[in-house]
This record gives sequence, C-alpha cells and structure tokens, in this order.
Amino acid sequence: MAATVEFLNVHKSFGHVEVLKGVDFVVEPSQVVCVIGPSGSGKSTLLRCVNHLEVTTSGAILVNGAMVGYDVRGDRLVEAPEAEIDRRRAKIGMVFQSFNLFGHMTALENVMVGPVKLLKTPKAEAEKQARELLARVGLADRADNYPSQLSGGQQQRVAIARALSMKPDVMLFDEPTSALDPELVGEVLDVMKQLAADGMTMIVVTHEMGFAREVADVVVFMDGGVIVEQGSPDDVLLRPQHERTRSFLAKVF
Ligand code: ADP
Ligand code: MG
Repeated sequence: MAATVEFLNVHKSFGHVEVLKGVDFVVEPSQVVCVIGPSGSGKSTLLRCVNHLEVTTSGAILVNGAMVGYDVRGDRLVEAPEAEIDRRRAKIGMVFQSFNLFGHMTALENVMVGPVKLLKTPKAEAEKQARELLARVGLADRADNYPSQLSGGQQQRVAIARALSMKPDVMLFDEPTSALDPELVGEVLDVMKQLAADGMTMIVVTHEMGFAREVADVVVFMDGGVIVEQGSPDDVLLRPQHERTRSFLAKVF
C-alpha cells in the first residue's frame, strides 16, 4: 500500500547544532522523491527522523497521517508505547549504504526473520514469501548463500528484499549504491526502478543523478539543513534556480 509522507516544519538539533532548520515537503502516494545535496546537509538525519531513529526537535513527520513516535490525546502529544513504535516502524522499510544483513543467516533467513519474529507469520508461509521476494530482486538461486558469499550488489538486493518482507508502506533509501563497486550499481538501481514502477512510495537519498532524472517524480536539493529547491528532475537538475544548486551539480555531474 502506498503511503503519504508529510514533513511539517521539521527541526532537529544535536546539542547546540541545528542540522535540520525547518523542512517542509509532502510525498504523495506512489511518488519517488530523490533527495540530493552535499555531505553534511542533513539528508540522512531527515530520513532517520521518518522512522523515529532520530527524534525531531520540533515539527512533525506524518506517515499515512500518523506520527511514528507519538499519539494525539485530545490537544496534546504523548509518546507512543515502545511496542507500538516498533510496529509502525516495521511499515517503513529502510535500506542503508552498508547492507546490514545478519551475517550468520542465509539470504533466505535474512528475508524471513522479520515476518517470523515480528509479524508471527508461520514459517512455511514466511519462506514462500521470502523466496518470491528473492526472485523479485533476481536472487532466486542465492537463497542458501550467506552474505559473505554474495557480492555487494547481491547483498544490497537481499537487504531490499528483507525490507519488503514487512510489506512496508514506504521505502527509505540512504545512498544505497554508494558503497558498491561501479559495476554493481546498476543491478541495485534496476531493482529500485522496478519497485518504483510497482507503485512503491520511495524517498531516495542518492548521488546517482541518472537514476534521479529517470525515476524521480520530484528532486529535492538540500543544503545546510534546509530545502533549497525542489521540483521535477528536469527543473532541478537541468534548470536549477539557485546558485547553491548550480555549484553542487557542477561538482557531481
Ligand atoms: P548528510 O546525510 O546530508 O551527509 P547528516 O544528516 O548525516 O548529513 O548530517 C548532518 C549534520 O548533522 C552533520 O554536520 C553531522 O555531523 C551532524 N550529525 C549527524 N548525526 C549526528 C549525531 N548523532 N550527533 C551529532 N551530530 C550529528
Ligand atoms: Mg548521509
């Protein structure tokens, strides 16, 4: 099911340092938003705030109209119970730069573990779904391999299948191809393209400008904790309005 994600005046500080300085934007169901910007501009922090891995200092992020970390009681916000936060977080798939697979589990086990442990899906059913997901990311024949027996691109595809195993409403990608050898980038981007074509709502932090141009509905350029500009890929990447965007693009293209 595709989700809406709303960022409402999101601020985040670490100590005295404000790294998100009022971020506002809306991701519509089935949209793909690519977030670009220089290192340190707050892209990862923004993604981590979506699933409450970081707690916003002020403002709010709504996923399908609800906050991951809080409940509304009358006119005030109360922190949601831990188990409830975990349940909501499970509906937000996240894929990191480092693949973060469980090294002692096979590809199949990595993709089964979430449904079995968190959703209490019967093992046989979880295995059937996991095999389908591995097939979807092109790894049907790698089910019994351990992460150490897989290339980086294959590991990242298992990580995507694992995130999908929880039937997420939205997928967050934080530079999913940055740690890969160049020849392995394409196979991961192809899986992400297919996911986008299947209607998944996606927020993708990436330096892959070709992917952003081809797949994104909206490109967001962040710098210094704010969105400097956002728009269609052609508008932002080919006709940027702001000097900061132009100088960033000059460095990455
Ligand atoms: P990006 O992903 O765009 O490179 P980040 O969101 O990782 O940027 O970081 C934004 C800023 O926040 C950086 O200056 C970084 O050093 C700082 N920062 C990120 N996480 C923490 C943390 N846990 N504690 C302190 N500062 C942090
Ligand atoms: Mg980052």
